[in-house]
Amino acid sequence: MPRSSVVSALAALFLVAPLAPALAQPAAPPRAPEAVGFGGAVASVDPDASRIGVDVLRRGGNAVDAAVAVAAALGVTDPFSAGVGGGGFLVRYDARTGRVSTLDGRETAPAAADEGLFVEDGAAIPFAEAVTSGLSVGVPGAPLTWQRALDLWGTHSLDRALRPAEELARRGFTVDAEFHRQVVDNADRFADLTSTAALFLPAPAVGSTFRNPDLADTYRELREHGASALHRGAIGRDVVRAVTEPPVDPAATRTVRPGRLSAADLRDYRVPEREPTRTRYRGLDVFGAAPPSAGGTTVGEALNVLETTRLSAETPVQYLHRYLEASRLAFADRDRWVGDPGFADVPTRALLSQEFADSRACLISPTAALTSPVAPGDPRDPRPCATAGAGAATPHEGTDTTHLTVADKWGDVVSYTLSIEQEGGSGIVVPGRGFLLNNELTDFSFTPVAPGVPDPNLPGPGKRPRSSMAPTIVLHHGEFVLALGSPGGSTIITTVLQVLTRRLDRGQGLLDAIAAPRASQRNTATTRAEEAFLATGEARALHALGHRFTATGEIGAVTAVERLPDGRWRAAAEPVRRGGGAARVVHPR
Ligand code: GLU
Repeated sequence: MPRSSVVSALAALFLVAPLAPALAQPAAPPRAPEAVGFGGAVASVDPDASRIGVDVLRRGGNAVDAAVAVAAALGVTDPFSAGVGGGGFLVRYDARTGRVSTLDGRETAPAAADEGLFVEDGAAIPFAEAVTSGLSVGVPGAPLTWQRALDLWGTHSLDRALRPAEELARRGFTVDAEFHRQVVDNADRFADLTSTAALFLPAPAVGSTFRNPDLADTYRELREHGASALHRGAIGRDVVRAVTEPPVDPAATRTVRPGRLSAADLRDYRVPEREPTRTRYRGLDVFGAAPPSAGGTTVGEALNVLETTRLSAETPVQYLHRYLEASRLAFADRDRWVGDPGFADVPTRALLSQEFADSRACLISPTAALTSPVAPGDPRDPRPCATAGAGAATPHEGTDTTHLTVADKWGDVVSYTLSIEQEGGSGIVVPGRGFLLNNELTDFSFTPVAPGVPDPNLPGPGKRPRSSMAPTIVLHHGEFVLALGSPGGSTIITTVLQVLTRRLDRGQGLLDAIAAPRASQRNTATTRAEEAFLATGEARALHALGHRFTATGEIGAVTAVERLPDGRWRAAAEPVRRGGGAARVVHPR
């Protein structure tokens, strides 16, 4: 794209989305989907967490200091999505250098794991059984991610960064409908684990105060001893015991398989700094998390496919058709090629090449939807319209997790997705520690996805399961434009893609792009879509093109921050999904 049209595209981006009038910040806003102003910004799903982040910024902390404080606070108020027992991917923009860096805080399988981790008597364990088990627990990566981020880029110590979350856990917070619902939805399995039942059951009433003194003590221990309290200390010993001897209620009828996590697994855990994925898109640079997350490569490949048409000039139906087809194709490639790069030869660069995207885009017809599963292409040898091997539908993945986005007054930005996998993770609260363990290892393929086709995502010793987390940062010539991310398992990728294209191509304001009804095509026979999406005229027209839909509940929960041309920040979150998010800026204007 010539520079002049880049400039006009950017101008259009902000012109068609007129700047919101200065929003007055009410004294104690319970929730706010949007805030505009100076001094830095925080967007998360939770008002307490966002308040803590803004306090850190107001007192001179930077984006990384605030991001860690917000993440720890989410471990208190959103404990069924993320926390000490989970992991995630953090992407950071440095305004001084224009550089984007990432940390891979993904959980690892125990050294004792092999390809047959989830196979018994020659068959895969039922997914529902694997979910609530010690077997599915990977080494948690969150505390070390926080410590590394602070060591590399922060100005606060872990001791200081975790203090507000400790206080929040001790003092308590007001239970909202979402927290209550999450307990109710998991009550059956929580009841089967004594430590979990003791902490969360009966489901705390909406409006009541929930305190978690055990978690407060865990944060105190992490503050005093650093992440080594988990990797070499007393918290770690308790984690190993909870995984190897899950605290199952003697009256429970479900099978809760133990895992084989050891002290050595915890000791050997690392949070590598990885090169971000980078995709040129209409003159912008889109950065994301590299493998073992499929977020960066899949969002990037789909954008490259979409770049072959002028999305801004398409009809609303053709825009959505192209979006669904691009993600269908990109998912076929994700499932075939992406896994932990320490174990599989992942062609990250080739997956992100425009030549490969062109060879895939050539399969898209404007008049008829493709039929899934479509076969993957071969990024190492891209040929127009060629496919390689058989296609397979994307396997199941959880639908929870959380995303936070923070910017500071120096212009640095953090986009961080963190997770314990599905809602409530493994269901196992570490006794006496107040946090749930992840079940992230269920993101591995239990058996090869397509018979006879190599699967880079089978379990292995010390291996990281493939993720879909897609913390994203968009730059223009090294200047920050937009950061966003979402929960939602593999729908994370389509949600990020949908919000990005609505904002960058379709000229929607950030909040409108987030609020718009969602549909998610992941190389499955039918496209999952929210009811509100199905009610649109576009959905009927897409049906006529051959798209088939399955109605589903909410897809994703985005938080985002963008920079306005006058230097103000806009923080944005969901107006409705998950009860609405919490966007804040330091000085509303
Ligand atoms: N475990 C999923 C992943 O890493 C995220 C889970 C979710 O969003 O529910 O991709």
